[in-house]
Amino acid sequence: MLNDLYRRTIIDHNKRRRNYYELQGEDVIKVHYKNPTCGDVMTLYTRLENDRIKDISFLGEGCSISMASSSMMTELIKGKSLEEVANLRIHAEKLIRTGETADSDLGDWLSLEGVHKLRARHNCALMPWRAYDKMLKTLNRME
Ligand code: ZN
Repeated sequence: MLNDLYRRTIIDHNKRRRNYYELQGEDVIKVHYKNPTCGDVMTLYTRLENDRIKDISFLGEGCSISMASSSMMTELIKGKSLEEVANLRIHAEKLIRTGETADSDLGDWLSLEGVHKLRARHNCALMPWRAYDKMLKTLNRME
């Protein structure tokens, strides 16, 4: 189902998770997210500066797709503006829902392309983006 290169990228990110630690500090926004369909859980730590992702990290437990997705997503959006991330988020959702890769700049996250055929795993792949949405909601409440 998943091509070999993509499969190896997913395995690598699951094994050697990037940005896998607790970000410390009073200015860190911390959100928990639980995937209702697979039981995957994660905590996303985000530090913003001037509408940009200054730093981002996560901790979690779950299936390899959810953990690899989180690792690749944090790597992808670190340093980007909220506007750029909003755009990537749309492409990511589209990739999983339709398998469409056109115009996307998703980096390693593209390796999740094949998940679009595995309907039961959509929530696993999209978990870090949902956690990100929750982070934005938290941010709006704080302002
Ligand atoms: Zn899962």
